[in-house]
Amino acid sequence: MSQFWSPLVHDLTPYVPGEQPKIDNLIKLNTNENPYPPSPRVLTAIAEQTNEKLRLYPDPNGDLLKASIAKYHGVDSSEVFVGNGSDEVLAHAFQALLKQDEPLLFPDITYSFYPVYCGLYGIDYRTVPLDENFCLKVADYQRPCGAIIFPNPNAPTGRLLPLDAVRQLLEMHPNRVVVVDEAYVDFGGQSAIGLIKDYPNLLVCQTLSKSRSLAGLRVGFAVGQAHLIEALERVKNSFNSYPLDRLALFGASASFDDEDYFQRGCQKIIATREVLTAAMQQMGFKVIPSAANFIFATHPQKSAADLAQQLRERKILVRYFNKPRIDQYLRITIGTDAETQALIKALSEITA
Ligand SMILES: *Cc1c(COP(=O)(O)O)cnc(C)c1O
Repeated sequence: MSQFWSPLVHDLTPYVPGEQPKIDNLIKLNTNENPYPPSPRVLTAIAEQTNEKLRLYPDPNGDLLKASIAKYHGVDSSEVFVGNGSDEVLAHAFQALLKQDEPLLFPDITYSFYPVYCGLYGIDYRTVPLDENFCLKVADYQRPCGAIIFPNPNAPTGRLLPLDAVRQLLEMHPNRVVVVDEAYVDFGGQSAIGLIKDYPNLLVCQTLSKSRSLAGLRVGFAVGQAHLIEALERVKNSFNSYPLDRLALFGASASFDDEDYFQRGCQKIIATREVLTAAMQQMGFKVIPSAANFIFATHPQKSAADLAQQLRERKILVRYFNKPRIDQYLRITIGTDAETQALIKALSEITA
């Protein structure tokens, strides 16, 4: 019955999210969720809003949440955009800022949603190869382009690009928007948000899904000078007036009030990441240095697809990408200490 589809839909290649299997007792290390619960303050805030007010529409502008984010990051509310997950924020950025006459640039190995948005919005793009160590080379972006986007730390490699290099990119293309997708920045990176006052072409996107344990609430945001935010608001207000529901607005806002809990959670993930990295190196894995809540690793003798399958048989789920350059790598989310110990045990048996 696909004759009913629009021509655009015929040509779409949708994003395929990591599995969310409905199986119990699974060690789920495949979608970079946080293994720890969100701050109790978040749950209290949501509970407080779970009342008869749900009959009313939420604040279309999300002012409460924008104010929390602005205060937390030391910017003005007019420099903050909020959306239903950073995927939605990114989607609006593609349509509002990254669709230009010249092609968009992003790394060849990167978040696989980027080419999907290009397909949806008809954006011409070129990929720029990372070097042999999966590092982004700023000099390779010295070419005509309409805009640039990349995750920092990158996904799925976990590699961090130093802030100096981000600044070089911004200065290389002062008349082009540069979007830095900081989904994982809280696990060891330094945010580029501090640069927005100096760079009118910089937009930084973040999410509450990973470091704030709120993947299920769907909240993301962007920070940039007011003219960039205005472009996102125009697209948002032409698409959905209420992308964030009342519970999401209040819950997300409360997350920024619990700095202690947030910092401790991130530190725990970082410590576990170092334990897992050392253990896997012991087993002969090459592990890319990670500043994220996952590691990207390859074994010189074992096929990554086989390893993923053998882990699966032991009820451990990791992410395998059957793609050029990375088809011998596994992306493994950092879980709790107990999950990590189970993973280490399984891997040492499989690779023995
Ligand atoms: C997880 C992730 C996102 C999306 O996060 P949501 O806020 O859950 O939509 C965006 N970019 C990258 C690189 C990610 O890994």
